[in-house]
Amino acid sequence: MTSRPTVAIESEAQQIIDRYHEMSDLDLAAEAGKVCRQVHGEGVLLRGLIEFSNRCTRNCLYCGIRRGNHHVQRYSLSEAEIRESVRVGFQRGLRTFVLQGGEDPLWSTTDIARVVEWIKDYTCGEAAVTLSLGIKSRRCYALLRRAGADRYLLRFETSNPELHSYLRDGISLARRIEALKDLKDLEYETGTGYMVGLPGESEWTRVRNALLARELKADMVGIGPFLPHPQTPLAGSPQQPLSLTLRAVSLVRLLLPRCHMPATTAAGSLDPAGREKALSAGANVLMPNLTPTIYKADYQLYPGKICLDESGVKCIGCLSLRVKTVGRRLDFSIGAAL
Ligand code: SAH
Ligand code: SF4
Repeated sequence: MTSRPTVAIESEAQQIIDRYHEMSDLDLAAEAGKVCRQVHGEGVLLRGLIEFSNRCTRNCLYCGIRRGNHHVQRYSLSEAEIRESVRVGFQRGLRTFVLQGGEDPLWSTTDIARVVEWIKDYTCGEAAVTLSLGIKSRRCYALLRRAGADRYLLRFETSNPELHSYLRDGISLARRIEALKDLKDLEYETGTGYMVGLPGESEWTRVRNALLARELKADMVGIGPFLPHPQTPLAGSPQQPLSLTLRAVSLVRLLLPRCHMPATTAAGSLDPAGREKALSAGANVLMPNLTPTIYKADYQLYPGKICLDESGVKCIGCLSLRVKTVGRRLDFSIGAAL
């Protein structure tokens, strides 16, 4: 599973990759951090995350809430609970809400569309709605777009096609990319991304991941470390160091200077200062978790997830202090694609 990039690399990207191979972790982070500040400034954008359902029909090998994990207590937020989470976040100043969940057939597209419409109405169109619900038909994506959804996050997870099908229980990379193209066609601000340190991944895979994000002209790229979950088939996989993820963040920042990149909670779960390190390596977004505290522990895609007993509002206070340690400040604006 070490296939080499098949994409034709244009010369600018090739030069960036050559430099990436030569640079130390520190130099790479410093260069990417500089590019990030030049393009995005000192501000760190906020996106309020609402993990509204942990029910999933899929069985991705890496994921703690996969269908086959019978230890998980399944939940879904009620529409009233979602609305309350949005109210709290909006009053605290957030202007982007991300609804994320498993591929849950009990949530119909019409039901999700109703929630999206409510958020747009409640916030008088001042807030952006981002969805992260996995693969859906183009028709469903179109309906949700018409309901007011502005953005969609769908990581391609790995650019290695064989590894992708293996890890995603037979679903192909081509299908994931088709969904991303549907989202782009429908004029969603489109986010993608991948995990770093998956078993079977090589350095070539990591370079190709970054190139694929560039080829897809992603508006947002989420990169987090793979954390082996004990209740999944990948339980025994080795944990790769955070430095691999930080290098990936920096490489994507150099290849796609304008994209928005979160300093992921997974990075903060692997290393207590992981998110601050990701910000210094080129990230410019944080995602405070607005999910009602009683459900947070049941949404563990990976083990060791941080801030499980903190409210979303407390989360924002903590993030405000954390970003100051790396010379940044929180930015409460909507943070549209550049
Ligand atoms: N069901 C949707 C959204 C929820 S999963 C989807 O699959 O797109 C959100 C992200 O969690 C996935 O894209 C994946 O990159 C990440 N994830 C899942 N399991 C993980 C693990 N063990 N370690 C790190 N990240 C993980
Ligand atoms: Fe479901 Fe997403 Fe987890 Fe896959 S990664 S099992 S689609 S929640």
